[in-house]
Amino acid sequence: MNNNPRYLALDKIQSRDWSLQITGTKASEIFGELVFTKEVMLHYLPEQIVEMIHSHETGQIKRETANIVANAMKTWAISKGATHYTHWFQPLTGLTAEKHDSFFDLENGKPIDKFSGSNLVQQEPDASSFPSGGIRSTFEARGYTAWDVTSPAFIVGTTLCIPSLFISYTGETLDYKTPLLRTIHAIDKAATQVCQLLDKSIESVNVTLGPEQEYFLVDEALYYARPDLVMTGRTLIGAAPARGQQLEDHYFGTIPNRVMNFMMELERECLKLGIPIRTRHNEVAPGQYECAPLFENLNIANDHNLLMMDIMDKVAKKHHLKVLFHEKPFAGVNGSGKHNNWSLSTNTGKNLLSPGRTQRDNLMFLIFLINTIKAIHRNADLLRSSIASASNDHRLGANEAPPAIISVFLGSHLDSILNQLEKASLENIEFVFKSEIKLGIQKMPEIMKDNTDRNRTSPFAFTGNKFEFRAVGASANCAPGMIILNTIVANQLNTFHEEVCQLVDKGTQKEVAILTILKRYITESKNIRFEGNNYSVEWKQEALKRGLNNITQTPKALDAIISPNSIEEFTKLGILSEHELHARHEIRTETYCKKIQIEAKILEELIYQYVLPAAFKYQKLLSDTIQNLISIGFHKDEYQVQLDLLKEINYHTNEIHKNLTAMKLQWQETSTIENLRDKAIHIAEKILPYFEIIRKSSDALENLIPDDMWLLPKYRELLFIK
Ligand code: ADP
Ligand code: MG
Repeated sequence: MNNNPRYLALDKIQSRDWSLQITGTKASEIFGELVFTKEVMLHYLPEQIVEMIHSHETGQIKRETANIVANAMKTWAISKGATHYTHWFQPLTGLTAEKHDSFFDLENGKPIDKFSGSNLVQQEPDASSFPSGGIRSTFEARGYTAWDVTSPAFIVGTTLCIPSLFISYTGETLDYKTPLLRTIHAIDKAATQVCQLLDKSIESVNVTLGPEQEYFLVDEALYYARPDLVMTGRTLIGAAPARGQQLEDHYFGTIPNRVMNFMMELERECLKLGIPIRTRHNEVAPGQYECAPLFENLNIANDHNLLMMDIMDKVAKKHHLKVLFHEKPFAGVNGSGKHNNWSLSTNTGKNLLSPGRTQRDNLMFLIFLINTIKAIHRNADLLRSSIASASNDHRLGANEAPPAIISVFLGSHLDSILNQLEKASLENIEFVFKSEIKLGIQKMPEIMKDNTDRNRTSPFAFTGNKFEFRAVGASANCAPGMIILNTIVANQLNTFHEEVCQLVDKGTQKEVAILTILKRYITESKNIRFEGNNYSVEWKQEALKRGLNNITQTPKALDAIISPNSIEEFTKLGILSEHELHARHEIRTETYCKKIQIEAKILEELIYQYVLPAAFKYQKLLSDTIQNLISIGFHKDEYQVQLDLLKEINYHTNEIHKNLTAMKLQWQETSTIENLRDKAIHIAEKILPYFEIIRKSSDALENLIPDDMWLLPKYRELLFIK
């Protein structure tokens, strides 16, 4: 019997059920059945309370009202089999957190089901174990979660989940949801004000998000046979298979049965939770897939994305699969992103980033398009910071990844329209507006459908009626990126409004004032627009000439969070205080250091416990063979193969040992560095390079050592699910 853990795992796969179980479900029959929706509420609550909860008005919810809602929620949840409730929130590391409490209580010794208004409104998890970036010293441990009235409660398993904010008792935010909600409010105010320049019927503006989620699926048994996957989410070593993605046969290819079973069950569970999941397909790399929902209001869409990631994990288990959200689980094939499709929509049902039919619509479209570009031009580094993490560096900036330059792609038609508008002389601007621009824009919808979305290399692309922020990592919460995008666009819209009003006050006609300013913005923000191949070397050089930053590693990318510009952007709108920004910067930097520290430890473990023992075993086999051959009188040239192999293996094992030792010395130095940022930079610059060097030798060994001696599941086994 072979005790090789890899073989044992492969044996397990053979026992799996590979047949397709047709379980497609009619979405309309189950959609939202586990959600405390407005319709359900109307069943259990007086109409005026339901209306109050769903109205745009902000303000406190009275205790009596909370009690009534809590009681209704409890009755509904128990009817669906729930026994517990939890405040479901988004701390600054990890995706979501929950602490379950039972409805069960004793009243005068008698068991009852209890869920009061105060249970609904507030809960106190032990906040001391969540990162706070020095905001709240551990001994205080005073943070609380508070009900987010704008996102409906739902049931997972037997638990009623209440989407919540996470705040310290001193009022600082400890999560992603609170600032996100603030930015949604800020955009609403700023954009509505701008809309009203042209259309008084617009009274509110909502941010919409449709996140496309990429992920890998691997067999569970193989996953557990790889300590690196289990502990870090990615393979730290692993030789490239003969066939990777070079045949380009996976993208949109047939979905394997096992994966299809997983997808169908995932979709069913998502639909029950009111997540409008809609699209599923294979992605570029073998083993890589994508799913996407219909877009929704940002706050809900983000809750739904996080919830979906959770559900994906749970459903995968049932199919003996493991979902990898890591941005680069495998070297040599594509990584995974989460494309954040972002737009703005009005209470009148208008998508502000959709070119319209009338001149007025098109002017409105140009305003929002150009202001967004301008905001990104002014804050490219800030936007870059939002997606910076140890894992996402592999998708932007690292050796195998494209450069980490933020730019905006518009598509050739729109690009040329902005160029025309820029060149139009001020005196002629009225003429331009009436003829050229009008013509150009009116033709746009048809042309754009073909032209857009071709540039898959752009980190921020306009795709017909929305912007697609593609640089977001697959494992990330969408909120950090969306918080920054909303903040900078809201500030930009406020500035724009102010500038237009100043011109109008001086007697300029409104449309002319608008176009005059847009024209200037086009010139000022031109540098950030790029239509070519973002992955090319030429772009790196061109960007350098343009003065655009290419910040390849997280520790430096995070600097933008605490730059004077960032502090101004955030404090002006009251989204985050300087103190909170510093706290967030600290947490992200610390997380970076910890992630790499864990990776380094696991790498060492893999080398000493898996790679070197296999190498030594083979060396023994080779040297025994040589001894035997010598003993029966073979000459050196007759055991040359064995000797060469022995030497080659020896070379690699020595290389590995040498570099691991050097890396350990660097770690010792790291521990003497006080300043967190310096420490992170040291890790990025002095330690990370060893990962690559060590990996190279280890991968060479994998290719040399007999298959039955290699202990870790190989790429071809992990990547090609039948
Ligand atoms: P692709 O980018 O792959 O061509 P789609 O055109 O289907 O894919 O759109 C991708 C995502 O964009 C979907 O989740 C979709 O709901 C979302 N989306 C479409 N319109 C908007 C919008 N106005 N605001 C936000 N997201 C949107
Ligand atoms: Mg897309």
